[in-house]
Amino acid sequence: MTTELTKALPFSNDEIIAIANRFETPFHVYDEKGIRENARRLISAFSWAPSFLEYFAVKAAPNPYLMKIFKREGIGADCSSMAELSLAERCGIVGENVMFTSNDTPSGEFKAAKDMGAVINLDDISHIPFLEEHAGLPELACIRYNPGTARTGNSIIGNPVEAKYGFTREQVFEGYTILRDKGVKRFGLHTMVASNELHYKYFVDTAVMLFELAAEVSRELGIKIEFVNLGGGIGIPYKPDQIAVDLEAVSAEMKAAYDRIIVPAGLHPLKICLESGRMMTGPYGFLVSRVLHVKTTYKNYVGLDACMANLMRPALYGAYHHITVVGKENEPANHIYDVTGSLCENNDKFAIDRKLPLIVPGDLVVIHDAGAHGHAMGFNYNGKTRSAELLRRENGEVIEIRRAETLDDLFATLDFEKLKSF
Ligand SMILES: *Cc1c(COP(=O)(O)O)cnc(C)c1O
Repeated sequence: MTTELTKALPFSNDEIIAIANRFETPFHVYDEKGIRENARRLISAFSWAPSFLEYFAVKAAPNPYLMKIFKREGIGADCSSMAELSLAERCGIVGENVMFTSNDTPSGEFKAAKDMGAVINLDDISHIPFLEEHAGLPELACIRYNPGTARTGNSIIGNPVEAKYGFTREQVFEGYTILRDKGVKRFGLHTMVASNELHYKYFVDTAVMLFELAAEVSRELGIKIEFVNLGGGIGIPYKPDQIAVDLEAVSAEMKAAYDRIIVPAGLHPLKICLESGRMMTGPYGFLVSRVLHVKTTYKNYVGLDACMANLMRPALYGAYHHITVVGKENEPANHIYDVTGSLCENNDKFAIDRKLPLIVPGDLVVIHDAGAHGHAMGFNYNGKTRSAELLRRENGEVIEIRRAETLDDLFATLDFEKLKSF
């Protein structure tokens, strides 16, 4: 008998079946309890910091219901586009609870961010005059540092030296000098060098790098860096044998570095910020889909009613997402399947050569860890409409937090009246 490692679900089988009977599959369903408990765990891990703020990276799961849950947990919003700024504003997340970390930024977005009082994180030295011209310089400005060859990145974000983001080290000093001379009064320092990283040391190293740079900049330029933002990139255990980042270990070693570098540099109290997306919602969102067909040719295929438009990560990065066949958890995983969607695109697969129990049409499957960079990456290729997002409240009630798109939504930008006389 072949047994695969399993991953627990926060729902009972009866509950999933009931939800799938009530709402049409496929859909994403988020677990509010898991989201809140995780958010509280993150905040409490950094309770030693004089001030700690997580900005939820909206792009991971741009749903205002989720953002409002975060707001109630004392979490802000990390935005990088007009739509994300607008969502934050509609959730009542404004002012310095919004971090605007963009790149290749249109002038209108700088203006919107400035009008909201958001913390503007500059991606390039040329953006200083650009921001000044189009929105005026704010009182508080942040610089995004790209350490180049000083750090190695990972496959999703790429090596810093190859990454399009941020200022070089020399530009960081030059940038703060320009900002200071133009009358900016308050300063922050940001970096983002990893994505989906599971080793806690990576984040400690990032903190040390930022602490040292903040101390050096403050000393050399006579300014005071008031916060450092370590970016996102905290990984999640997609595979059953992986383990989550040890946040307590990150925090403890970061505190030691803070006491060693920041306190003697006279920068205490320094605010510590994160802009995590994946770890905030990823493990608490599930893509639920039904098996339409099982076919056997040169390989065995399971065809779902979901496709890569619902979750693109496996096709895009070859990413692993665990799959549970509801009600068959205890059956031997003695069949090997490619689990596919219906796009006319051969990489539309959720899993390749995955060991699973015997699957038949009508089976319900749950694709795990789809809560971040899942629904958000949805697209309409092949005329696929985006599916609904559901939220299981803490009291067990399930509500729809985004309805599924219809064909009318898909065709809303087409003028069929004009077509008649075309
Ligand atoms: C994508 C992104 C994040 C969030 O990354 P996660 O891997 O989801 O934590 C944070 N900040 C910036 C600037 C990003 O581009």
